[in-house]
Amino acid sequence: MKKHNFYAGPSILSDYTIRNTADAVLNFADTGLSILEVSHRSKEFQAVIDQATALVKELLDIPQGYSVLFLGGGASLQFCMIPFNLMKKKAAYLDTGTWASNAIKEARLFGEVDVVASSKEANYTFIPTGYTVPDDADYFHITTNNTIYGTEMRYDPDVNVPLVADMSSDIFSRPIDFSKYIAVYAGAQKNLAPAGVTIVIVKDDALGHVDRPIPTMLNYQTHVNKGSMFNTPPVLPIYSALQTLTYYKQLGGIKELERRDLAKANALYEAIDNSKMFVGTVTNPVDRSIMNVCFVMRPEYKELEGKFVEFASQRGIVGIKGHRSVGGFRASLYNAMPMESVQVLIQAMKDFEETH
Ligand SMILES: *Cc1c(COP(=O)(O)O)cnc(C)c1O
Repeated sequence: MKKHNFYAGPSILSDYTIRNTADAVLNFADTGLSILEVSHRSKEFQAVIDQATALVKELLDIPQGYSVLFLGGGASLQFCMIPFNLMKKKAAYLDTGTWASNAIKEARLFGEVDVVASSKEANYTFIPTGYTVPDDADYFHITTNNTIYGTEMRYDPDVNVPLVADMSSDIFSRPIDFSKYIAVYAGAQKNLAPAGVTIVIVKDDALGHVDRPIPTMLNYQTHVNKGSMFNTPPVLPIYSALQTLTYYKQLGGIKELERRDLAKANALYEAIDNSKMFVGTVTNPVDRSIMNVCFVMRPEYKELEGKFVEFASQRGIVGIKGHRSVGGFRASLYNAMPMESVQVLIQAMKDFEETH
C-alpha cells in the first residue's frame, strides 16, 4: 500500500531525490564507486557541492556578498554558532516555541539577550506582534516556522537591526528578502535532504566583528574560506540536497513551490475549519503554518484521537501524531508532499467523522 508520509522531520523527500541518491550509492557519477566511499576532495564531489551552492543562490535569489555553507551539527549547533560569531554585546530574540527558546538559552552564554516578546503563556499558539527591537541589538533572531506548534511568520519583519533566522522547516517555501538578513540557517531534514547537513547562508561582511576568540570549527570564516571543505562535510546528505534542489528548479522554483504549498495547506485548513470533530490549534489564519498543520479533536470527541491515528494508518497515512507538547495531530506538508496525499488525509477525516 502507498504510504502517505506526514512525519515532521526527518520527513518526506521527493522520489527524484530518493531514487537518484539510491543510484549514487551504487555508482556515483560513473566513477564505479559509491557516493559512500569517494573522497570529498574528488573532482566529482567538488562538482556536487559547487552545483548545490549555485542552486541555493539561484533558487533563493541570494544577492552578492553572501556565502552558502554546508555544515554538520544540525540546526541546534547554529543556536550557539550564531551568537558566537555575530553577537558583540546584545541581541534580540522572538520566543515563538521550543526551538526559539533553545536558541535563546544558548545566546545567553554570549551576552545580553533581549526577548522582545513571547507567546509561551498561550502554549505558542500565535506569533507575537507589536514588539520593539532595541536599536543597539546586533541582530534580531526569529524562527520563521515553529514546527512543533504549527505557527509561521510568512514575512521578513521590518525592524531597525539586521535579521537572523532559523528557517529549518520552511526554507524553500516562499521568497525571502535577503537584504534584511545577515544569517539564515536550516537543518536539511525538513525540506531538503536526509539529516546530517545544515545550510547556513551568512553575509560575509557581518563576520569578523566580535572580540571573543572563536574555536576554528565554530567560526563561520573557517568554512567560508574553505568552501565548506575545511573538514569532511556530510557527503551523502549534500548529494541528496543537490537532487532536491535540482528537482525544485525543474518544478519551476520557489514561486511554484509556494503556490503548491499554499494549495495543500489551504485544502487541509478548510477541511479542519468545516469539521465538527476536528479543530485547529492555531486560530489566527495569518499565523498558521503552511508546513505543519496542527489540530486536535474537540473536547467531546477527545477520547477518539488514538482511534483516528489507527484509522488513518489503515489508509497508509503515517506520522500524523502531534508533538507531545501540543497533542492531537500534526500533518507536515513539506514541499515533497503531493496534494494527493493531503486529499487522502482529508477524506479519512471526513469518513471518520461520518462513522463516529
Ligand atoms: C527540527 C528543527 C530544529 C532542530 O534541528 P536539528 O537539526 O535536529 O538540530 C531547529 N529549529 C527548527 C525550526 C526545527 O524545525
